[in-house]
Amino acid sequence: MKEKSYGAMDYYVSRYTHLFRHQGQHYLFAIRTTDLASITPALYSLLQEAKETNSPIEAPQKFLESLREVTAVGYKGEDDIYVREHMLGTMQRCFNQSILSLVIAPTTKCNFRCGYCFEPHKDHRVMDDRVEDALFQFTEQHAPHKRVSLLWYGGEPLLAVDRIESMLRRFEKESYSIYDHTIITNGYYLDDRVIDLFKEYPLKTVQITFDGDKTRHDGIRKDYRTGEPSYDRILANLIRAQRALPDTLFSIRVNIDARNQAEFPKIQYELLETLGGDNIDVYPGYIRTDSDDGKSLGGHAMEREDIASFISHSIDCGGCGGKFYPQLGQKGCSANSISSFVVGPSGELYKCWNDVTDPEKVVGTIFSPEVTNRQLHADYAISSLWYENPECRTCKLLPVCDGGCPYYAIRNLRQGAHYNMCSPFKDEHFFEECILSGLLAKK
Ligand code: SF4
Ligand code: SF4
Repeated sequence: MKEKSYGAMDYYVSRYTHLFRHQGQHYLFAIRTTDLASITPALYSLLQEAKETNSPIEAPQKFLESLREVTAVGYKGEDDIYVREHMLGTMQRCFNQSILSLVIAPTTKCNFRCGYCFEPHKDHRVMDDRVEDALFQFTEQHAPHKRVSLLWYGGEPLLAVDRIESMLRRFEKESYSIYDHTIITNGYYLDDRVIDLFKEYPLKTVQITFDGDKTRHDGIRKDYRTGEPSYDRILANLIRAQRALPDTLFSIRVNIDARNQAEFPKIQYELLETLGGDNIDVYPGYIRTDSDDGKSLGGHAMEREDIASFISHSIDCGGCGGKFYPQLGQKGCSANSISSFVVGPSGELYKCWNDVTDPEKVVGTIFSPEVTNRQLHADYAISSLWYENPECRTCKLLPVCDGGCPYYAIRNLRQGAHYNMCSPFKDEHFFEECILSGLLAKK
């Protein structure tokens, strides 16, 4: 659809244009498209002044139109149109029902007792046949196009591998198309039987976590009954699985906090060397522990600025390959989607996987259409979205941020918590460093 032209008009620098200098060069970064351009000092001054004074840009119309093509400038009010279009995009994603997304916890049991995850009140249930039957009825009602995205979660989902197998065979028998297929596992039970199952039902991604290097990992992730360490066994399983499932991405999360962040580059290097292959990604997982009052990050968790300085260090070391270059958002979170559910072993429904096993976070069950926690359900569906936050509506980072994690937004909203939801890009120096890392990666 071609936009109607109203002839010559005033153009203003877009809110989403970031102008900066680095080592004598002048740059324009269009946040709406994530395009970067090196510009002349004269153009930089012209745009910078117009931006600071919020006045129309004095330049030939044709030139201004070419700047508008790259979203660097726009007519008055055009940024607000973008915000509403972005809102529409978010709504379309949240209300899209073409695929039913199920995060299924076939069990809440786990063979480890990691301090930041395990709580004594957590229960240890396993899904039974009755729940499986009800889940297929629920799926039939909520997946009119017979397309599902599956993510196996827990507890440790492979402690209930029989249930996973039974459900996969049933999805196949009932002619569902599995659009996306992922498992989050601690890797301890990733044995030959499991590998054979996932040869038959290919996974897009396996996510496995190491808790830092071998010593630290073994101190945390050990069998809670025998005390047996797990690093070597998980690594051996990973090597076998990675070779047997070449089309699956093995996404290896290495948990870090303020105490072990400096070790990450070495751990990453060693894992990549040991595993090889191009179906491996090793990335830092920032452990989020709460403060004693449960209203902000605490313990040794890394705050936004700590994460920014950690990433800056990776960029300085040349070890980032441009992966911190700002990316457009709109990937969103499944918790906001009306077509996405986290299913617990008893058939209870949650919206976010962080909520699994917390009875206060259950929003309903697969046995009934009734929403049992209307406040939380509405908070995930609407109140935690970026457009409910006035700061996000006028934030220049919106295209690359999308407002942060709804789980923490709701805690801020309802529990008086004060988690920092913003992107580390709020620090302009860090933002520019990440933008320029894209140039380094191209060299
Ligand atoms: S609400 Fe946050 S923690 Fe929960 S699924 Fe979404 S992004 Fe993840
Ligand atoms: S969460 Fe913060 S950084 Fe992200 S869009 Fe909202 S105000 Fe901007």
